[in-house]
Amino acid sequence: MKRVLVSGGAGFLGSHLCDRLLKEGNEVLCVDNFFTGRRSNIHHLLDHKNFELLRHDVTHPLFVEVDEIYNLACPASPIHYQFDPVQTTKTSVIGAMNMLGLAKRLKIKILQASTSEVYGDPEIHPQPESYRGNVNTLGIRACYDEGKRCAETLFFDYHRQHGVPIKVMRIFNTYGPRMHPNDGRVVSNFIVQALKGEDITIYGDGMQTRSFCYVDDNIQGMYSLMNSRDGFTGPVNIGNPGEFTMLELANEIIELTNSKSKLVFLPLPQDDPMQRKPVIDLAKKELNWEPTIKLRDGLTKTIEYFEGVI
Ligand code: NAD
Ligand code: UDP
Repeated sequence: MKRVLVSGGAGFLGSHLCDRLLKEGNEVLCVDNFFTGRRSNIHHLLDHKNFELLRHDVTHPLFVEVDEIYNLACPASPIHYQFDPVQTTKTSVIGAMNMLGLAKRLKIKILQASTSEVYGDPEIHPQPESYRGNVNTLGIRACYDEGKRCAETLFFDYHRQHGVPIKVMRIFNTYGPRMHPNDGRVVSNFIVQALKGEDITIYGDGMQTRSFCYVDDNIQGMYSLMNSRDGFTGPVNIGNPGEFTMLELANEIIELTNSKSKLVFLPLPQDDPMQRKPVIDLAKKELNWEPTIKLRDGLTKTIEYFEGVI
């Protein structure tokens, strides 16, 4: 039995990861400051004998004894990470240093939840891990994008300089149950709007694309990466190569919810990437991983969840 620390464990992805790790027979220490995470995401785990919750902000050092770390702490939705951009960069950079320092002291493996945002508004399509990105260092997304890029740098420097075993995962848009209904991300926004019969808010002309991965596929990829062969560090893209425009997504959600909602077009936020699609050859080769859940099926499960919470 391993003792596994999950930072950001009360968030959307973190809570699903805690479920998986407990199911595999591990002890889980969930570390979260509840900035975007919610007790309801982990409520069902609070009485589990192998689950422990610690309210803690990763920008402060943490001294605990564990065998493995998944570093997920960081708000992921643009409205949340732009709410306090300085804190977002601190969480990514200082949070990564604190978690890496812990991994170094304990000589344990650590996984970083990085992001497709390191590619910025990509000029290469689809995006392989070798692409170095096109990020505006001055824009409103930079606190997140540059914070995550710097965290990747720290991971590789701790690896080279101190021999810390690292795994770096570049996550593309992931959706599913336990997304925050008000977190402003496109899938949750459209589903909530469709279920309430409100206007569906399309930013720009809706022709920008994203690739949406269902949460169970993401967690399988994360778990496989942590348990991949020694010496395999990544970075590795984990996402679903199916590519959809926001208009296609909106229409699919309207159909699945049988909604009478109308589309409204609002201004495109600054630096909003026009296209996003992962090359997943590396994940296939190294992790024997590829997504299995189609957008329609994943949306159906997500809609069921939101019907229960709103
Ligand atoms: P989320 O906002 O639901 O979860 C993030 C969690 O981190 C929350 O529980 C929050 O309270 C916690 N947190 C934030 N700042 C903290 C701090 N300073 N100290 C301790 N805890 C803190 O987001 P998510 O979608 O679950 O994302 C999890 C990770 O995956 C993030 O690092 C995010 O950048 C990355 N990621 C997610 C996606 C996606 O589509 N969901 C895509 C790319 C990368
Ligand atoms: N988007 C939209 N309407 C919304 C929320 C988002 O059209 O109500 C668009 C947004 O402009 C972006 C895409 O959907 O082009 C994905 O946005 P999200 O915030 O989910 O993720 P990210 O931009 O970080 O990939």
